[in-house]
Amino acid sequence: MSKEKCNPYENMLTMLDKAAEKLGLEYDDYVGLRYPERELTVSVPVEMDNGKKVIFQGYRIHHSSTRGPCKGGVRYHPSVDLEEVKALAAWMTWKCAVVNIPYGGAKGGVKCEPEKMSENELRKLTRRYTAMILPIIGPEKDIPAPDVNTNEQVMAWMMDTFSMLKGYAVPGVVTGKPVDIGGSLGRAEATGRGVMITVLNVIDKLKLDKNMSIAVQGFGNVGGVAAMLLSEQGFKIVGISDASCALYKKEGIDIKSALEYAKNNNRMLKGYEEEGIAEITNNELLCLDVDILIPAALENQITKKNASDIRAKIIVEAANGPTTNEADEILEKRNVIMVPDILANAGGVVVSYFEWVQNEQYFMWDEDYINSKLKGVMDKAFEEVWKIHQENNVSLRMAAYMVALGRVAKAKKIRGIFP
Ligand code: GLU
Repeated sequence: MSKEKCNPYENMLTMLDKAAEKLGLEYDDYVGLRYPERELTVSVPVEMDNGKKVIFQGYRIHHSSTRGPCKGGVRYHPSVDLEEVKALAAWMTWKCAVVNIPYGGAKGGVKCEPEKMSENELRKLTRRYTAMILPIIGPEKDIPAPDVNTNEQVMAWMMDTFSMLKGYAVPGVVTGKPVDIGGSLGRAEATGRGVMITVLNVIDKLKLDKNMSIAVQGFGNVGGVAAMLLSEQGFKIVGISDASCALYKKEGIDIKSALEYAKNNNRMLKGYEEEGIAEITNNELLCLDVDILIPAALENQITKKNASDIRAKIIVEAANGPTTNEADEILEKRNVIMVPDILANAGGVVVSYFEWVQNEQYFMWDEDYINSKLKGVMDKAFEEVWKIHQENNVSLRMAAYMVALGRVAKAKKIRGIFP
């Protein structure tokens, strides 16, 4: 058996080429999108608490600025490398295009083990990383945001570092910052809320009701919020997991109490108990007999190894790139409905866009307005993708890529090549 290709950038290119073919694009019409516009690698020195110096590898990649400033998160994780950040940057281009917000795509990351670092070390790392990527970020160039293992506090340090070096406050340089310094109401829950809206949209199209069971992989800012909002909607969340453990309860888990437990337990589910709950493995969670599976952790979780064992009828990708291309093909053949990441998890960047607009206008919107605008954008994108899916008899992933690539390639054509 051939070894499965798990290079996320190559997987992205395969999808891109296929979508271009479906759209009838010539190679020349989109070849520029096969390459990131700009790649910056930085070596970030940090004096650790023990007095020793450690050099961390960091990246900031601009995949495309064709439709507007580059946009995308920053992740802190041991698996961060150039290929991963390149893929994540490209996915941001497609994500922003599929929901039709005026941004290109970017991503950043630092290879590190944040859970082993003190707050002091994380602050120093963040400030120095920000200073080193400073030439290529800014509200009109590239706007970082939270991603895996980064949060409001990290964004606050980035905003402060950028502002200090400029000499004046620049709130619009990052999104996902605390509300007190120009963050947006609703931003923290936005990705999870977008996932919930997407689940409602897909079951509506399939004429199903909410009497369904769901398993969620990942219990952080995305998975935890999605699980909470979906349980409030009346779905039964039977499986949850995080990096520490996976849990199953046939009758449905009390998500509110699990969230409360994780909050007080270093953001870990390990040790959470309620009557009838059992610990399972991460792979067992993915293969639970549920109606809907929501991978909300890292990429390459559903591979050709476990794709045939997945029993969910619908998968809603809350993480970026959780399914490999080969697994995707297996699931498509098995008629599993797959709502792709670039559509399903776009809620975060949509409210990031609202945050940036508020910053640029020095104006603040209220939360109900933000949530209803988010729903409007998510619903419209879902409709557009669904229509292409039906008209062309292609998967939802292919349809989402066709919508996104169609928009970016058109913008590229109109702009032309400089000089
Ligand atoms: N990191 C999030 C994502 O992957 C949010 C990006 C943003 O808000 O810019 O979509």
